[in-house]
Amino acid sequence: MIKLEHVNKYYSLDQEKIHVLKDINLNIQEHEFVAIMGPSGSGKSTLMNTISFLDGNFEGSYLFKNEDAYHYNDNKLSRIRNQSVGFVFQSFQLIENNTVFENVALPLLYGGMKYRNTKELVMNALEKVGIPDKYNKLPKQLSGGQQQRVAIARALVGNPSFIIADEPTGALDTHTSADIMELFQQLNDKEKVTILMVTHDSEAAQYCKRVITVRDGEIIEGGADYAV
Ligand code: ADP
Ligand code: MG
Repeated sequence: MIKLEHVNKYYSLDQEKIHVLKDINLNIQEHEFVAIMGPSGSGKSTLMNTISFLDGNFEGSYLFKNEDAYHYNDNKLSRIRNQSVGFVFQSFQLIENNTVFENVALPLLYGGMKYRNTKELVMNALEKVGIPDKYNKLPKQLSGGQQQRVAIARALVGNPSFIIADEPTGALDTHTSADIMELFQQLNDKEKVTILMVTHDSEAAQYCKRVITVRDGEIIEGGADYAV
């Protein structure tokens, strides 16, 4: 589903050019559950931004479902991004004044669906993350783990091709982290959701089926040569 070949990326900082992704070769199949690990500054977020169609300013090739999505015009590219990727963040990024239901409905409304048509999909996503009874609460009335479940439901609701989670357990205690990782594992096993996760937490990474290690802009383990 995701195929990067000889991807190189540079940032220009003042007069300096820094090489942030170095000859990245990577294949990810549908239904995989992948952790990306590596020290701070090693290029993990840059790699995720490339994969999730946020930053097309790189050299090399990225084929998504055998097509070069970055060659589409901006409208089509943003449509592909909105339909193909669900995002989960360390800090949940929920809208505080909106209910759980409204937060989860957001990607559907953004995609043009009428509010009155969102109910079944939203409640279905809340069922999958185990908190359908919380639909009418505000985020601040929920625990951190429950808030992250809302964010995961929001990522799932549009039935994306894959979910990108950047340090999804970074703000949670050990016990709650384990619960959230079990949820991801269950979504991967039962719902066949493809998940790419950046994490610093080696305990969290143990739930993933494959670990990619990034060091100083290079994949040093788990890249294109990985046998699924
Ligand atoms: P990680 O997510 O692994 O911490 P990043 O992908 O955020 O790493 O950053 C990789 C390198 O690129 C770092 O050296 C960082 O300082 C640099 N970098 C990231 N974003 C920018 C930017 N917008 N402009 C210039 N340099 C950047
Ligand atoms: Mg980062």
